[in-house]
Amino acid sequence: MTREQVIEATCAAFLAHYGVAPTAVGVAPGRVELLGNHTDYNDGFVLTAAVDYVTAIAGAPSERPRTHLATSAGFPEATFETATMEKSTGEDRWANYLKGIVDELQKTGTPVGTFAAFVTSSVPDGSGLSSSAALLVAAARLLTTLWPDPLAESPMELAKLARRAENGKFVGAPVGLLDQFSSACGQAGHALFLDCRSFAWRAVPLPAEKAGILLANTNVKHELAAGGGYSERHGQCMQAARQLLGRGDAKLREVTPALLESKGIGLDPLLKQRAHHIVYENIRVEKAAEAMERGDLAEVGRLMKQSHESCRRYFENSCAEVDLLVETASALPGVYGAKLTGGGWGGSAVILHEPAIAETLKAALTESYTAKFGKAPTLLATTAAPGAEGRRL
Ligand code: ADP
Repeated sequence: MTREQVIEATCAAFLAHYGVAPTAVGVAPGRVELLGNHTDYNDGFVLTAAVDYVTAIAGAPSERPRTHLATSAGFPEATFETATMEKSTGEDRWANYLKGIVDELQKTGTPVGTFAAFVTSSVPDGSGLSSSAALLVAAARLLTTLWPDPLAESPMELAKLARRAENGKFVGAPVGLLDQFSSACGQAGHALFLDCRSFAWRAVPLPAEKAGILLANTNVKHELAAGGGYSERHGQCMQAARQLLGRGDAKLREVTPALLESKGIGLDPLLKQRAHHIVYENIRVEKAAEAMERGDLAEVGRLMKQSHESCRRYFENSCAEVDLLVETASALPGVYGAKLTGGGWGGSAVILHEPAIAETLKAALTESYTAKFGKAPTLLATTAAPGAEGRRL
């Protein structure tokens, strides 16, 4: 479904559910990490893009005593009094994302009143495209359209608000800014370069005529992904930074290759390996953004392949399933590059390719993956898409 089709379906569902037409809609995309694997919590650099898969929320102010939220995603309807919201703990937990946004807007002085809303999404469940960020940012766009807030004029400020909502008492997930930023600040035909320390960012050209993005999901989640793999790597990175820089609040972002080589001698070999990935990954992200600005997608692809190799060898967060997808894609003419995307130990590969080879690429991935693992990967094609928006209807 296109963005416009999702918006139409959401408005139609609102009308069918509540018997009146919505007066506004918020829409926000999911996102994909193109380069910068595990660099975000090291205060490093990331290249992401908003994707063609979106979440839309149609809404209208309501005269009823309670706010009503419904979704087509299979979760039950939620109702609450906007003035006295409490965290949902039952099947309607999904409403916490919206309560978090309402709460944060109230803190900025936006007089959010009672409303009714309906959510529809084309972001596939469990796809790693960050459906929660899409929901949060779409909700922020809807509510700042219904109750205008100057903060909404800056997509970055809106992203920060959505992050506070996810960190806050209703959702309580200690996430960084990356997902909400990508969803809020996306630009058609552009990837997004983010400095996770200063939050300075810029859009860099990634035109749809030159580059297709394919997300190939293994649907595999190895034990380390489900268990403590992510937090173990987080801990190792923090420890390596502390030892290399001699400060408790140090981050690997500050470590140069020269410092790693000179001071890394005394470092535990495993910590040095992890630090090696982050230090050089940050350099790759900067180089890739510059290459995109020059229109040199072959160089971007080379950097993606190096990133994958670094995940495999130094960060050890890849797995046989993702490796096979990356190897198969990388061997095809017309593929710029391929790599692991997301936390690792399963999940997805992201492939940057010439648009003309899209079908050949999909067939090759399905064939080689099925031959080895007995089932097909889930393939999601996208371009670098526009970010979130709110519309009055
Ligand atoms: P992701 O990595 O996709 O963000 P999370 O587990 O962090 O996955 O968030 C998924 C949660 O977001 C769902 O369990 C649900 O609570 C909420 N959510 C996402 N999309 C929708 C939707 N369309 N309707 C209602 N809730 C949604």
